[in-house]
Amino acid sequence: MTNIVIFGAPGSGKGTQSENLIKRYGFKHVSTGDLLRAEIKEDTELGQVAKRYIDKGQLVPDEYIIQMIEHLLSQLQKEAGLIFDGFPRTVAQAVALDDLLVHHQTKVDVVLDLKVPEEELIDRLLKRGQISGRSDDNLETIKKRLLVYHNQTAPLASYYANKGVLKTIEGTGTVSEIGDRIVRVVDALHE
Ligand code: AMP
Repeated sequence: MTNIVIFGAPGSGKGTQSENLIKRYGFKHVSTGDLLRAEIKEDTELGQVAKRYIDKGQLVPDEYIIQMIEHLLSQLQKEAGLIFDGFPRTVAQAVALDDLLVHHQTKVDVVLDLKVPEEELIDRLLKRGQISGRSDDNLETIKKRLLVYHNQTAPLASYYANKGVLKTIEGTGTVSEIGDRIVRVVDALHE
């Protein structure tokens, strides 16, 4: 089983590139953002809590996220691989993920760190906001999310670099150019 963390700032293309990987390798997509938005849509208790944080551009507290992932992993059948998209976002979440995967006799194989300049991130998120209807794709919330990313999530890169699993991917260019860079890294895992 291959476990990939797709890492990067909001707007770096994590969701788009996850779709490519799913099509190519048949991996299962684990997007905490999508899971939370589904909870909000169904107006569950978790959805109500999550909405308060998401609308402010803040992270949903670790305990909710870790519980959600724990539940999801406990229900998995045999998968070819998992793509974690938007998770982990804090060191506490990364440590929890490592522990959970140990219980499933597996580990994080690679972390793909998508690098995109800040002006392009803002540009992409504003464009997405016009079509996605997402409550957090407006300029004020985008700026908060980028700050949260720099303060709370970016430090995770060194956590994974120390484990020798971090791969930096240039996240600019066409979707398929970026996809090719990722495929080269993922294929090399199986050589
Ligand atoms: P995303 O779709 O990954 O951009 O996530 C949208 C929002 O959901 C984030 O800005 C957070 O408020 C929340 N969220 C998603 N994943 C996480 C996570 N792993 N930890 C905390 N909050 C999260």
